[in-house]
Amino acid sequence: MNAEIIAVGSEMLTPYRQDTNSLYLTGKLNELGVAVAFKTIVGDKRKHLTGAVRTALGRVDIVVLSGGLGPTEDDLTREATAEALGVRLRRDPDIIAHLYTRAAARRMTIPRNNEKQADVIEGATMLPNPLGSAPGQWLDTVVGKHRKLAMLLPGPPHELKGMFEAECLPRLRDIVPKRQIVTRVLKAAMIGESLADARIAPIYTEYKDVETTILAHLGDIELRLSCSKPIAELAQTRVDDLAGKIEEELEDFIYSSQGESLEQIVLYFLEMRGATLAVAESCTGGLVAERLTSVSGSSRSFVGGAVVYSNRLKTELAGVDAQLIATHGAVSREVAIALAEGIRERCGATMGLGVTGIAGPAGGTEEKPVGLVYIAVSDADGTDVVEKRFSGDRAAVRFYASQQGLDMVRRRLM
Ligand code: ATP
Ligand code: MG
Repeated sequence: MNAEIIAVGSEMLTPYRQDTNSLYLTGKLNELGVAVAFKTIVGDKRKHLTGAVRTALGRVDIVVLSGGLGPTEDDLTREATAEALGVRLRRDPDIIAHLYTRAAARRMTIPRNNEKQADVIEGATMLPNPLGSAPGQWLDTVVGKHRKLAMLLPGPPHELKGMFEAECLPRLRDIVPKRQIVTRVLKAAMIGESLADARIAPIYTEYKDVETTILAHLGDIELRLSCSKPIAELAQTRVDDLAGKIEEELEDFIYSSQGESLEQIVLYFLEMRGATLAVAESCTGGLVAERLTSVSGSSRSFVGGAVVYSNRLKTELAGVDAQLIATHGAVSREVAIALAEGIRERCGATMGLGVTGIAGPAGGTEEKPVGLVYIAVSDADGTDVVEKRFSGDRAAVRFYASQQGLDMVRRRLM
């Protein structure tokens, strides 16, 4: 169900007064699972107000009106709502009596025009206002075959809150269907947002009852699937159906279907395969190790490695032949392979990962530009290496490189 809030009062169309009642009302409605689709502010003009109520009744399920219930000429909410609904107002003698009793108790005399506060819209239930004189009204009606709820509440914020809580909330709780919201997060690595969206948009647009949002980070996209239904199982089925189809389409780009991080998944696969990993990192400076060790329990599969920033340490710690570096350069396919193989052997791990590249912003050449990174993964079956040209600043290049490395380890283990 959705709602519109109509704040009535010309003062809110000046620079001096703001409509704050709708903020409170929006919070309360959202808690019930009702989305606020529109907010309208309208001055004390009967024609405008009638039009606003009519429009609201035509486009939402619940209309909440605030203000314009007082005794003065410009308090027109009752008249306008009745007109919009095409029903009559009836002056209620009991309410009139109550108004005079209330005034007498305060030793006040009230002018005749106060009696308009006793005008009841045909079909409405009066809502008592212990904090003020103007009673509210509750309407549960049918407009063109659709059930519509409308409530007329006083403008003063404390009166509105008191009445909404005491009178409207309990009624709404009985009527607004209880919804269960199920959310699932799929994650994919090293696929661009636009490419991913182009492939899956034809699928998720078919699932109108599942809200799909794509959040993109560096080398990582998060697909949030969310569905709200009266019964949790129904929502779960829809979300799972859609998740299954998206996984089929994006295949092995998807690394996680329950929101886990890439490093969690890599460690999970390593453990499942009884494998261990060692890393030799140059341009990432330990970022891969940092990401893996941020997961608790990582010591079961991640043995460690070395940050081999200088050529000397590439040789001393990862066993890369100095001649190989001299021939091909530190940032090369050959050195990445040697790093992965060397660190695997030196650390006695079943897998080795080697990363070497130019993170920038300085140090690039025409032949080896900033963003050029070689990443290699090695295990008993052999060694794979990829050449990547990442764009972005230093931090972005380093993160992409770590992401690519972790993703290659994951794919090796799949
Ligand atoms: P009253 O019997 O006091 O006249 P009413 O229902 O006619 O009540 P209004 O005259 O529209 O209400 O507003 C009374 C006062 O309540 C306004 O002067 C203003 O201070 C406050 N008020 C009205 N509407 C809002 C709103 N949407 N947000 C915040 N304050 C409001
Ligand atoms: Mg008023």
